[in-house]
Amino acid sequence: MNIPHTNLSRLVVIGGGFAGVALARKMVKEDVQLILLDRHNYHTFQPLLYQVSTSSLEPDSIAYPLRKIVKRGKNTFFRMAEVESIDPDTKQVHTTIGNISYDYLVIATGARTNFFGNASIKSNAMRMKNLPQALNLRSLMLENLEQAVITSDPEERKELLRFVLAGAGPTGVELAGGIAELKLNVLPRDYPDMDFDDMEIHLIEGASRVLPPMSEHASKKATQFLQNLGVQIHTNTQVKNYSDNLVTTNTDLSLKTATFIWSAGVTGAPVSGINANALIPRANRYKVNEFNQVEGYENIFAIGDISVMETKIYPKGHPMVAQPAIQQGSHLAKNLKRHLKGKAMTPFKYFDKGSMATIGRNKAVVDIGKFKFGGFFAWFIWMFIHLWFLVGFRNRFVTFFNWVYNYINYDKAARLIVRPFKNKNNNTVDRV
Ligand SMILES: Cc1cc2nc3c(=O)[nH]c(=O)nc-3n(C[C@H](O)[C@H](O)[C@H](O)COP(=O)(O)OP(=O)(O)OC[C@H]3O[C@@H](n4cnc5c(N)ncnc54)[C@H](O)[C@@H]3O)c2cc1C
Repeated sequence: MNIPHTNLSRLVVIGGGFAGVALARKMVKEDVQLILLDRHNYHTFQPLLYQVSTSSLEPDSIAYPLRKIVKRGKNTFFRMAEVESIDPDTKQVHTTIGNISYDYLVIATGARTNFFGNASIKSNAMRMKNLPQALNLRSLMLENLEQAVITSDPEERKELLRFVLAGAGPTGVELAGGIAELKLNVLPRDYPDMDFDDMEIHLIEGASRVLPPMSEHASKKATQFLQNLGVQIHTNTQVKNYSDNLVTTNTDLSLKTATFIWSAGVTGAPVSGINANALIPRANRYKVNEFNQVEGYENIFAIGDISVMETKIYPKGHPMVAQPAIQQGSHLAKNLKRHLKGKAMTPFKYFDKGSMATIGRNKAVVDIGKFKFGGFFAWFIWMFIHLWFLVGFRNRFVTFFNWVYNYINYDKAARLIVRPFKNKNNNTVDRV
């Protein structure tokens, strides 16, 4: 890996997501050798992936180079590598570019899409957990529109213009709203010769309401906003299969569609080598104590989506969202600094700042403690909070500019198929 040996303790961080970046930013100036590893050379702001998929933002607006984060320190290094395994006995991390030893190891590998063992959905559905996948989805949607405008078969056109999403959590709700907005405000101007009454957006949810993790109030408001945008909501319905462009469910509902998007769950993305007792099997996440130490290890920590810290308020661990990841990353940095100075570590306490989801061009729902509201004001808050947490001034500026432009012009800037989803042999590519 070409990393010098020094007298400093070596801190290896796997994952440059919200948790890993929050930690690394606070450790770059410390007396440790910091090595940040990630399979991508950028940090992704996942809450805005749906805007890349629906052509509102270009990918660079929501990504930030990880090298820029480590370059501020003298003893800090970034290496782009896939971590394959950890050997706690020899304190080594094995990666695609070689092995590296550690004194302290932080696992911040986040989560991946959970298909709950359904092979047909895994092989055929679109997903949106990283930028390449968001771009795939954008390309597929635009390619289907290009196909829809030339076909003379009305059934094929309907299939190409029917978008089906499984999972009405914040991701499914925001994506459905984004596609509906395209249908209402953008696409009819791009394709004046196509009848967009044929375009359907279906949102399928296994629970009895949309946004199950949020309040009843948020759920009701979101349902109303989505229905106003023309989204067809199917609750108490579970998708069973997707193959040959047919979605089947546990009810009478079955839908022919060329675009089926799976946003119905995530599971941890652990790295092999850690003692099996430390892994919660169904969640695929590491059990950690109040200092984020992985069960059974003193010098291995896990933060963010990959960790489960059981507390009275959160018996199954904190919600798998950005705030716990950021707060755990920052808190662990404080604890590592204390530990390096020979001081005792302090327990992590989560400060719940609330949750929110946006629907369409100017509506959102917000739950902050007892305050639950929805509509334009909520959207305003959603917008500023997302801008605030975007990493990098340039990203904030470009995103804000794009949103203002989209808002005023009822338009979206990025409807280009630069990176086709299908290769020239018509095979699908890069669905992993
Ligand atoms: C579409 C979508 C929308 C979301 N919307 C919201 C929202 O509105 N609000 C909210 O609070 N949360 C939202 N979330 C959840 C939030 O993004 C996650 O909770 C958060 O990213 C978790 O941070 P993390 O650092 O634990 O993991 P991540 O941010 O996922 O980072 C993990 C990092 O580890 C790297 N990595 C993983 N395995 C390896 C390996 N083996 N080798 C090398 N590198 C590896 C990955 O490349 C990645 O960079 C959303 C998530 C998605 C997917």
